[in-house]
Formats: sequence, C-alpha cells, structure tokens
Amino acid sequence: MDDCIFCSIIRREAQASVVYEDDEVLAFMDIFPVNPGHTLVIPKGHYPSLRDLPPAIGGRIFQVAMQIERAIRNSDIPDEGTNLLLADGAVAGQEVFHLHLHVIPRLSGDRAGFRFSSANRAMPNRFALDGQAAKIKAGM
Ligand code: 5GP
Ligand code: ZN
Repeated sequence: MDDCIFCSIIRREAQASVVYEDDEVLAFMDIFPVNPGHTLVIPKGHYPSLRDLPPAIGGRIFQVAMQIERAIRNSDIPDEGTNLLLADGAVAGQEVFHLHLHVIPRLSGDRAGFRFSSANRAMPNRFALDGQAAKIKAGM
C-alpha cells in the first residue's frame, strides 16, 4: 500500500529502528513508546485487520513477540511485566490500519491506560455465558 506508513517502513522508505526481520515479519521500535522497549511486530503483507490475516502469519507474529519479550527481559531495559496488545478496529484503538502486535514492557506507576478491572464488570448468569460459548463454538 502506497500510503501506509508501516509498508513504507518495510520498503525502507521511512526510517525505523528494526529489531527483527524475516520473509513474513518485521519488528521495530514504536515511535511514541509507552515505555522504553515498546516494540511493534507486523506482517510484511498489508493486512488491515485480524480477519484479513492468514492464521499462520498470526502465529509467527506471536512467536516473534514472545522472543522480543524474552530479549527485553534479559536486557537492562526496565520491565516488570508485559502487555501484548493488538488493536483491531478503530473502536479498539487501532490507529494504523496495517495490523500490528504491540510488545509493551510495563512498569509500576507508568500510568498506561487500559485496565480490565473486574470491579467495573457485571458477571452474567451461566445461561448467558453458555449461549455466547455456543455461538462462538459453532463458528470455529
Ligand atoms: P495502534 O493504536 O494502531 O494500535 O498503534 C499504532 C502505533 O504505531 C502507535 O503506538 C504509534 O506510536 C505507532 N506509530 C505510528 N506511526 C509510526 C511511525 O511512523 N513509526 C513507528 N515506529 N511507529 C509509529
Ligand atoms: Zn501497510
């Protein structure tokens, strides 16, 4: 895609600090990191959304993200925990529509957003959960 910033990085027409590359995957430092070490893992193909992404490439992206997480943990980059985050769709926070998996080292007090506090969630009854499980199961 001509106007995609991540495709430009793949073609080396835009600058990036690359940490990993193979035939299918590229990983580079996020330009506005949540914390030092924040890395993006992307497919080399221009897939805007998860539903476009071949599952095997999704598997590769996750494997590379795990390698990066381990490398960060073994480095002197501060890392008390990690979020692997993939935003699929604007409502989920996606801003660059070339799919990417964030590897975000987390530090206590870093004030990064995105909390799954169970305090703000209701617990559905078993009937509702079974109904959702059945719908998802039927599609797999
Ligand atoms: P999203 O919100 O789509 O999940 O995340 C997009 C990410 O891409 C953001 O964290 C943003 O900082 C990063 N980003 C946007 N433009 C560039 C760029 O030109 N170079 C790099 N390295 N990262 C970028
Ligand atoms: Zn692209």
